[in-house]
Amino acid sequence: MTELTPQANNLDQWLDAYAARAETLTVSEVRALFSVVSRPEVVSLAGGMPYVAALPKDLLSDAYESMMRTRGDLAIQYAGGQGDLKLRDQIRDLMALEGIHSSVEDIVITTGSQHGLDMIAGLFLDEGDVVLAEGPSYVGAIGIFRHYEAHIEHVYTDNNGMSPEALEESIDRMKKQGKKIKFLYLVPNFANPSGVTLSADRRPKILEICKREHILILEDNPYGLLYFDKPVPDALRATDEDGVIYLGSFSKILAPGFRVGYVLAPPAIRDKLVLAQESALLCPSSFTQFMISEYLAHADWQKQIDTFRGVYRERKDAALSAVREYLPNVETTTPDGGFYLWLTLPEGIDSKAMLPLAVKELVAYTPGTAFFGDGTGQRNLRICYSYPTPENIKIGIKRLSNVINLQTEL
Ligand code: PMP
Repeated sequence: MTELTPQANNLDQWLDAYAARAETLTVSEVRALFSVVSRPEVVSLAGGMPYVAALPKDLLSDAYESMMRTRGDLAIQYAGGQGDLKLRDQIRDLMALEGIHSSVEDIVITTGSQHGLDMIAGLFLDEGDVVLAEGPSYVGAIGIFRHYEAHIEHVYTDNNGMSPEALEESIDRMKKQGKKIKFLYLVPNFANPSGVTLSADRRPKILEICKREHILILEDNPYGLLYFDKPVPDALRATDEDGVIYLGSFSKILAPGFRVGYVLAPPAIRDKLVLAQESALLCPSSFTQFMISEYLAHADWQKQIDTFRGVYRERKDAALSAVREYLPNVETTTPDGGFYLWLTLPEGIDSKAMLPLAVKELVAYTPGTAFFGDGTGQRNLRICYSYPTPENIKIGIKRLSNVINLQTEL
């Protein structure tokens, strides 16, 4: 990854030439940390990386051979902008696991769901438009919404996900200010960064409010199949075909290097998305789509997801027990799946200011402010337990406790 330095910006002789929107492209807190935390002696609880070592590589070699045998020329050719029909049909089966009935016609394959989010934001957001989102919300989505110059309005979220009452209040407040709400962005399952899941009883309430207020919902669900004990409640899209755009991804249930995600959208929006995709990149990669299609057709992918669930459950247990042992004064969420814990530090500690001290102690995390568009979250931090071994997670959290204890003694 290219390192971005402030010096590089100062020396930029093209500074006057950039479009105004280029100013929204700043180095994220997560990105700025990258060069430091990739040092082997640092336990990184920062980046949200899937543990791809748990995927047997022969499953991919088999998929590759089968793809080359059956569709070799097509795999290296341009193709349609909507994505491969066979893979779209397989995606229908995947989404059915969360109660979604869909047609292949309404699915658009994207270059990761990040790309889907970017295209949707490009279709809907003008400067000053409001996006409602959980507080905290996914840093990558916040970055996109900022790039399109939207105002991000965080809605109070607790251990059961977004509060429907708070959603109504936020909508009222925005309307009174004369603002235009374009959509509600939600990560309903094992959210990044909080780890919390929107409860089954809140889902119909949120759907009902958005329907009444004519607000589109963006349901971003990359983690839903990575539950520890019991499946998540049905997707919001399962009961509302017209008011929800659903985003899924193979990044966490297979591997992010393929860069394959998908969007299920109402027909008119789907048509626009296909046009946006053709305009930006002609077509998504046939090569990686076909690899995934072969993998789904021939490998035991359900068993592989079970393997991932086992890995992440063990790491979540290690992280939670270390937090309880070493950080008794710190509040934590208790996720039922996914990659993340969200910690609330004792009053007076600023997690961003503390980060350099933590890195000195050889542990890294992501400060809470990264996950809000309005600078709040100073007392919070995100721990990602998906990548380090359980032993290293414990070591990392012990190191973190040394840093936090020093802060509370000051
Ligand atoms: N949404 C959420 C909530 C995520 O956590 C991520 C990745 N960390 C993405 C979208 C993007 O995933 P991808 O582009 O790899 O599909």
